[in-house]
Amino acid sequence: MTMEYLQELSEAIGVSGNEEAVRRVILKAIEGHVEDVKIDPMGTITALKRGTDGANRPRVMLAAHMDEVGFMVTGWDGDGLLKFTAVGGIDDRILPGLRVKVGEKQLPGVILWTPIHKNREQAVVKMTNLRIDIGAGKDEVSGKVKRGDRIAFDSTYMPIGDSIIRGKSLDDRAGCSVLVDILRGGEYPCDILAAFTVQEEIGLRGAQVAVKALNPDAALVLECTTAHDLPNPLADPDSHDPRDLNPTTRLGMGPALTFMDRSMVTAPQMVALLKSAAEANGIPYGFKTQLGGGTDGGAIHKGNAGVPTGAISIPARYIHSPHAYLHRDDYANAVRLAQAALHAMTWEAIKPL
Ligand SMILES: [Zn+2]
Repeated sequence: MTMEYLQELSEAIGVSGNEEAVRRVILKAIEGHVEDVKIDPMGTITALKRGTDGANRPRVMLAAHMDEVGFMVTGWDGDGLLKFTAVGGIDDRILPGLRVKVGEKQLPGVILWTPIHKNREQAVVKMTNLRIDIGAGKDEVSGKVKRGDRIAFDSTYMPIGDSIIRGKSLDDRAGCSVLVDILRGGEYPCDILAAFTVQEEIGLRGAQVAVKALNPDAALVLECTTAHDLPNPLADPDSHDPRDLNPTTRLGMGPALTFMDRSMVTAPQMVALLKSAAEANGIPYGFKTQLGGGTDGGAIHKGNAGVPTGAISIPARYIHSPHAYLHRDDYANAVRLAQAALHAMTWEAIKPL
């Protein structure tokens, strides 16, 4: 595990469709470790890492998405407060009072809230009623922001204790960082077709295009997924225990493998390949059986004439918020599992069962 670039990746701002800052970090990190680096018309980075036995092995696409959820400026009121809309899936209820960064210049702002002595009876929070206050009056605001400017969560990357990393956009900068570490960290028998994709959070759009250009024989998606190991704050306060006592994803359990989510039913041979690679190498893993969410695999497995695709996901708490938590061991084990899977990737292993 190196994680050398995770902080820089987490702190870079790349709300879907505007991933430039993340792209710069990745291009720097992979330089000299890959060949044939390209940026496709949508902004996805693709690169080739040649395998030691590439001619006899399937060509494997490894995908991680560069974009993060955030917001976009849609206008402003007469008092200079910004109206905005979400880019990607964000829960309106977490927003009031959060710090954000607006536009290219990363202007500091706060999402408005009303002090408790005014809002004791306030009903549900709706994004359309919220505004962002950048401290500008109506005459200044048009000189500072434009409609379409992206808005990102304002957050600081921080190790907590010995095992936890806290940061923005670990979904999916952790996946990007795993892919960087794989490309920098060793030799593999098969050719790796790396794809750092764009616009995953708004519909797997970059991956849809990248898979056509790369035409892989198999694919692995490197992701971050929700850890289901917390009590539910919306549970009835009188219920005996609002906690899911059998969470399928937990911090520290190892990477999660997916049978099915909203975007894909994982090819059984890819589940089997990942499971046996983990077991043969003593890598802890679990199965994610909550079926929500999706990954770039949703687009990749339907690419070209069909691509057997698996997903390796690091469980993280509080994804799609300013502060996600992940466990260092899960990260390290995701790298190890992806590397073990690359060594096990043969034509025989990816054949439909
Ligand atoms: Zn993601």
